Amino acid sequence: MVHRPYIVGNWKMNGSRALLAEARAIDRGAARYKDVAVALAPPFPLIGLLRDEVSAIGVGGQDCHTAPKGAHTGDVSAAMLADIGADFVIVGHSERRRDHGETDALVQAKAEAALAAGLGVIVCVGETLDERDAGHAEAVVTRQVDASLPTGDGVAEAATLGRLSVAYEPVWAIGTGRVAAVEDVVAIHAVIAARLTARFGDAGAKVRILYGGSVNGENAAALLAAPGVSGALVGGASLTADAFLPIVAAAGTGEL
Ligand code: PEP
Repeated sequence: MVHRPYIVGNWKMNGSRALLAEARAIDRGAARYKDVAVALAPPFPLIGLLRDEVSAIGVGGQDCHTAPKGAHTGDVSAAMLADIGADFVIVGHSERRRDHGETDALVQAKAEAALAAGLGVIVCVGETLDERDAGHAEAVVTRQVDASLPTGDGVAEAATLGRLSVAYEPVWAIGTGRVAAVEDVVAIHAVIAARLTARFGDAGAKVRILYGGSVNGENAAALLAAPGVSGALVGGASLTADAFLPIVAAAGTGEL
């Protein structure tokens, strides 16, 4: 089973109920691309509302706590996300690693909590510009993949079922308009794929590896056609249907 390309919009800390109109338009457009799996990750307050407005796309969170419940003021558990109808959660986004000091070990625990709650999970990795300039991109991403991906029984099965994805997001390409060169994306995705196979065997090949970092309607086709790229994690260009649907179209075979 080869999974459909996966195009995921990360709304970050953007949006209000007014933006649900864009989600509805994205949902209608995505319904025309049955060969593409499309999803949106709005901020927590909009997840349940958005869930009720869409039918063709997946809905997810941008983070979760490691524990199912308890005294963790301001946090949201994976079980709570599942309860309001979320399908997946993003963990380890570089903005969370930066803003909240999230370590690989914490990201791993979050990913394990997500799978335990029955959610799909997208684990983000990616090097900073300093790390790339120092020639350490592959080493950094290898370390992050090895230390951030979930462990334990059931992970290989989740991978086989398409519930585990890795997003390669070079930090310097996020929100900067500076997209990574296709050959650099291919090289890093190959490194990630090798780690996944080493870790999960045949199931590792079922893990989607998304690229993220300034993806838009103009550059999406080249990135999505590159070997080893099985989808995209999209920030800024996921906030409107006009910007997001051309990326969905670039992943599919239908006509927009
Ligand atoms: C992201 O937030 O994961 C991202 C890739 O953002 P942008 O597309 O805006 O660079």
